Amino acid sequence: MRMATSEDDCLFCKIRDGKIPAQKVHEDDRALAFRDIKPMAPTHLVIVPRKHIATLNDLTVEDEALVGHLHLIARDLAAREGFAAQGYRTLFNTNSHGGQTVFHIHLHLLGGRHFAWPPG
Ligand code: 5GP
Ligand code: ZN
Repeated sequence: MRMATSEDDCLFCKIRDGKIPAQKVHEDDRALAFRDIKPMAPTHLVIVPRKHIATLNDLTVEDEALVGHLHLIARDLAAREGFAAQGYRTLFNTNSHGGQTVFHIHLHLLGGRHFAWPPG
């Protein structure tokens, strides 16, 4: 697996720029959200900042509000998709042990079924 180090080589930057199609469910000035191509739950969305940040390790203090913003989008989408009250799972995968495959941070929002804890 090759790690994208810049926007030029980044799948989610390409989706952001409309170069690769995606089923978008949200767009604003700082972030977008779309349906995961390989859903792991009845609803599986990814919430992506417009800014290219490769992993959570690359966050800076400047990004603090942005990361909060991604979570407010998750809250709103969980309500809109109808599973806010039952519950849902939000997560960031980071690097190899975390199972990250796209190196542009994204908050997964999974809902519509029960999720086990601890994760596998
Ligand atoms: P990660 O494994 O990095 O945490 O999550 C990347 C996610 O992006 C995976 O759940 C994967 O299914 C999804 N994904 C990969 N390629 C595409 C694509 O071309 N379109 C969409 N909508 N999702 C994708
Ligand atoms: Zn990117």
